[in-house]
Amino acid sequence: MIKNLFERSRSHWVRYNRYELKTGKNGRRYITPGKDAKPDVYNPLNMVPDIVLDALNVGMLMMGRKPAAEVERAVLKFVTQYGLLGLMTALPTTPSFMDYKAVYLPKNHFIKEESMSTDRYLALFYPFDQLELVKQGIESSWKVSGDRTMIALTMTFMDEPMAKTMSFQRQYAEPYDWVAQQFKDWAFTLTTSILYYQDYHLIDQDTRELYQKAMAVFGGIAPSYHIELLDKPTIYWDFHSLLLGIQMMFSFMLVDNEQPLRVCKHCQKVFLGKPDNMDFCSARCKEQSDICKNRKERD
Ligand SMILES: [Zn+2]
Repeated sequence: MIKNLFERSRSHWVRYNRYELKTGKNGRRYITPGKDAKPDVYNPLNMVPDIVLDALNVGMLMMGRKPAAEVERAVLKFVTQYGLLGLMTALPTTPSFMDYKAVYLPKNHFIKEESMSTDRYLALFYPFDQLELVKQGIESSWKVSGDRTMIALTMTFMDEPMAKTMSFQRQYAEPYDWVAQQFKDWAFTLTTSILYYQDYHLIDQDTRELYQKAMAVFGGIAPSYHIELLDKPTIYWDFHSLLLGIQMMFSFMLVDNEQPLRVCKHCQKVFLGKPDNMDFCSARCKEQSDICKNRKERD
């Protein structure tokens, strides 16, 4: 069902073939494209439902307090597969913040300040090498120096907010702990929604309201879209960050009755439930769980 929903849909995002963890002067760790890594433009909507399941499963590792090294590997694997989340364009009130002197930030898990100067904001995402920005009043541009791939990439996104194209450059980096926290937030949202219905009759009204409140903070700015007249009419989703794109796909999957998101009772992996199987992600996990059950009954 979720696949049909996005069949005549398009969107663009950029992923490099290699990312690395680098520590900044401030001691903070960042994820950034590896040296000489190659960028590639792809359509995240073609990756439904895997992109959402993969994101949730990284978060589930954190919810399950798995070792830091295991979480780190999973985060980097996700980013190498789908690109960085685009936090720089996702957090402010507008992805077109480059047209203004200051950036305004709705409540979020990463930055406490409600606003900050655009320069200071940019510095959060370029901790190693700065873009060669040319500022002329509020108009600004940057030199894409002699790199043909980067020039082609910049042309692809010419009509989009400048900050979005900037976030596809090699110099762009996202704090590792922010990316990881976002995965955890999504997994938390999923478990909240599952537990609410699973435990509905076991919990009191106050607890129910706590669940409802936890759920209500999820969501956000709806991405805008337009229709493109390709071989058939096609919806082009203008989400300006992968974060917003995943959030939208995840939302539709959360309300999907036919193939609801479930958590495996044996290994805690997130999977798509089917009418005849709502409890286990695989035949193997069902088997393992039966063995455990039998053992307990025997003891
Ligand atoms: Zn399982």
